[in-house]
Amino acid sequence: MGFKTPRRIIVEYAIPFQSARRKFTEVMPNWRRELKVIEVLPRLIHLQKLGYYHSHPQFGKKRGTPELSKTDREYMQPGEIEIVVAINDSKRSSPWKESKNKLSGTLGKYHITIAGFYKRKRNDEITQYRVLCPYAIGFDYTFEQPLV
Ligand SMILES: [Zn+2]
Repeated sequence: MGFKTPRRIIVEYAIPFQSARRKFTEVMPNWRRELKVIEVLPRLIHLQKLGYYHSHPQFGKKRGTPELSKTDREYMQPGEIEIVVAINDSKRSSPWKESKNKLSGTLGKYHITIAGFYKRKRNDEITQYRVLCPYAIGFDYTFEQPLV
């Protein structure tokens, strides 16, 4: 939930939902259609639905990746964002940093990588964009880096 400016999409709130039907490697996205509450929320809190986020957790030795799967791409609606959070085991902690348009760092014993994608209305093209998060890497750093 958030709002759009001409150059940025600003996410103010991310509301966690637990899916009833799950595979090990991926949450089945079918439940999205059933979430009528999402359509009502903007009227209540004056923010619009921007898209979804979901996680790709590590499963055994197979590490979660911050990429869109084929299914993820199909379920994205034009004009909406998808944020993918890869969650993997981490033996040591590392500070949060931005690299290759992704944000990553550790939280407790997990290594987290966050990637943001947007599907254009014009041609359904999906592009990965920078994820700016001043709370993770600092306000000065976030807004002084040149756009890559
Ligand atoms: Zn996915």
